[in-house]
Amino acid sequence: MALQRQRIAIFGATGSIGQSALDVIRRHPEKLQIAVLAAGSNVNALADLCAEFRPKHAIIADVECLDALRDALHDRGLSDIEAHAGDQAHCDLAESSEVDTVVAAIVGAAGLASTLAAARAGKRILLANKESLVVAGELLMHAAHDGGATIIPVDSEHNAIFQCLPSEVDAKQLQRIILTASGGPFRGRPRDALKDITPAQAVKHPKWSMGPKISVDSATLMNKGLEVIEAHHLFAMSPDQIDVLVHPQSLVHSFVEFVDGSTMAQLGLPDMRTALAIGFSWPDRLTSGVGGLDLVKEGGKLEFEHPDLQAFPCLALAFESLRKGQTAPAILNAANEVAVDAFLNGNLSFLGISDVVEQTLLKMEVSPVESIAHLMDVDRESRNVAVNLLPH
Ligand code: NDP
Repeated sequence: MALQRQRIAIFGATGSIGQSALDVIRRHPEKLQIAVLAAGSNVNALADLCAEFRPKHAIIADVECLDALRDALHDRGLSDIEAHAGDQAHCDLAESSEVDTVVAAIVGAAGLASTLAAARAGKRILLANKESLVVAGELLMHAAHDGGATIIPVDSEHNAIFQCLPSEVDAKQLQRIILTASGGPFRGRPRDALKDITPAQAVKHPKWSMGPKISVDSATLMNKGLEVIEAHHLFAMSPDQIDVLVHPQSLVHSFVEFVDGSTMAQLGLPDMRTALAIGFSWPDRLTSGVGGLDLVKEGGKLEFEHPDLQAFPCLALAFESLRKGQTAPAILNAANEVAVDAFLNGNLSFLGISDVVEQTLLKMEVSPVESIAHLMDVDRESRNVAVNLLPH
């Protein structure tokens, strides 16, 4: 009897992670099958992907775009594909018995509801959407545990740690995890030299090709801060057990240090398809389209340095909010989303990003997390505070 193919939903299919996931899937039609493709508002890109992958369902998050999606599918002779719109459609299909695996690749806290739905429904989750863990880490990890879901981190650093950890690891055997960071496009520059950075400069990452929001987060080092919070939840490590090292070559994706002095690392070319292929196949392996690593060809050296927290205070703010706990990481995330969006739209300076985050954290009261609805209120309120801090 033929083995059933893994039926996959990709949320954020038109983005950078979505494209990398589709490239891996394209290579394994005998094992991997697209059941659902979803995007935010980019109707034509979504319809083009539907033409190639023929999912049963297509979702557009922006409800205003549903008619346009239906038309675009019709124009391509794809009227048999069911068109849906809105966040609830993402949640419904995340829970559906037609789906085994969810690639959580929406950008920002907008990805939380569907990731949580997939966790509750016990799906295999390839988690790229780090913001959902930052905002609601404990609730999400509990939901995954109770629902029987498997979360496979796709962020390259967390995927590296996931690969380095034995399946039955006793927490007492772990000393520390060390997340590596490329340092972004402005590594080595003092804070004064970052005043006039433009969005075009900030999104030009030296090593990784990514969407605009995470590229700016990499340039401010907020991305590493979000990853510290993500690692805390995924691997149950205290803030003191998580370190960050800048590694400009981006070949060592992270380290795990054990109590006996042994340190494990995972290396590979900076290409998200490796982590995504592991997500689809773990504990097996699949070809991903990424070649092997020739360290001599890659320059023959691996360098490491401590991050500069004066020039890049976002990393320190993230550590601080993790130590505070409760709703602090949700506030940090909301303020950062507002600030990055304003920067990308030319309404805030590069240095203003950390200022807006810091001021929002000071203005908002931190409280114990009660529920997802409570976190959504905190998210909304923090966004309002952050918007009011933007230059008029
Ligand atoms: P992109 O900006 O490239 O893509 C974002 C995707 O999300 C698009 O498909 C977009 O659709 C969709 N989207 C946007 N807003 C909404 C919404 N409100 N509801 C539903 N869908 C929405 O981002 P990336 O692929 O770079 O990043 C995605 C996530 O993965 C982020 O959390 C990021 O931090 C994480 N990540 C990314 C890495 C990378 O290499 N890119 C590496 C590690 C983690 P549309 O095209 O229609 O706007």
